[in-house]
Amino acid sequence: MNPVGPNAARRTATRHKGHVMVVVMQERASEAQIDAVIAKIVGLGMDVHRSSGATRTVLGVVGAHKVDPDLLRILDGVKDVVRISEPFKLASRTFKQSDTVISIGDVKIGGDEVIVMAGPCSAENPAQVDATAAAVKRAGAKILRGGAFKPRSSPYSFQGHGEAGLQMLRESGDKYGLKVISEVMDVSQIELIGRYCDIYQVGARNMQNFTLLRELGKTRKPVMLKRGLSSTIEEWLMSAEYILSGGNSDVMLCERGIRTFETATRNTFDVSAIPVVKKLSHLPVIADPSHGAGRRDMVAPMARAAVAAGADGLIIEVHNDPDRALSDGAQSMFPEQFDRLLSELRIIAPAIGRSICLDPPATRR
Ligand code: PEP
Ligand code: MN
Repeated sequence: MNPVGPNAARRTATRHKGHVMVVVMQERASEAQIDAVIAKIVGLGMDVHRSSGATRTVLGVVGAHKVDPDLLRILDGVKDVVRISEPFKLASRTFKQSDTVISIGDVKIGGDEVIVMAGPCSAENPAQVDATAAAVKRAGAKILRGGAFKPRSSPYSFQGHGEAGLQMLRESGDKYGLKVISEVMDVSQIELIGRYCDIYQVGARNMQNFTLLRELGKTRKPVMLKRGLSSTIEEWLMSAEYILSGGNSDVMLCERGIRTFETATRNTFDVSAIPVVKKLSHLPVIADPSHGAGRRDMVAPMARAAVAAGADGLIIEVHNDPDRALSDGAQSMFPEQFDRLLSELRIIAPAIGRSICLDPPATRR
């Protein structure tokens, strides 16, 4: 992915003003065809960023002057050429107009149904994970959340149970028919977490860990990228671009609240980020009202607002005994509160043409 071409050294300075196109190669394009396209682009005085995914190669074309897309469109092996003005290319609506729908078995994220992920902040012990998983499943959640590797502000706080935590999540996930999401903090954990989980969560503190993002771009498992504590929407989308440009197209974005001058809530939950991102990008947007609010009593109103604003999913902290939680107890919902919230969301979602938890199990009260 290192840029080649005459403008490579100036690339950062010209990023926002530069002209950007994306050349999408056909699935069966040969190496010789790809090389010929790269040579043509370089010959036109532009830089090339090559990313080869599992099925096709995409060439990002960046430079200071305009190039006629037809000059590239006619070359052998080229499927399409798209001109893109945003600095994020593959993540942009210009590159792909239709909403991205991520399939994890029968769970589809980004379609008509609003998907709910729920579970404890941390996987603490098998009984806690099991009781919480049973409760969130009964309420209508499709995906079990839980941290095994925890990014804590203090090195003396509970850091998570590592692989043992992942085992608890997978076991309860399988028992109740829930997919599993857990946070990956470091490149060294990718393989292990991939063995137990269906979705990688990248935490707010790691949104600009570019080494981690690049490695996740090489995997073929969905990634949920949380917005950094002080990150702009553009920076957030540029981080998604790191994963996409590695060839992994299953990226969802998660708004989890940002740092502002306000101290009444743990973070300021940026509801407006939801429609802004939906306009700029085709990627699904998930809302995390738990970390956004930081207080249990504020989670439901923020969750209702997020669904009304067009979020494709929610991730919510629920604990069977939140007052004894090892992390984030104050923002973790009681199972009854979570159940009530989902009943409310079943009224709100249809008002904007969406559904939510379509088939709650027969055990529902
Ligand atoms: C979490 O999901 O428990 C978490 C640590 O989230 P964030 O990265 O948004 O702080
Ligand atoms: Mn948490």
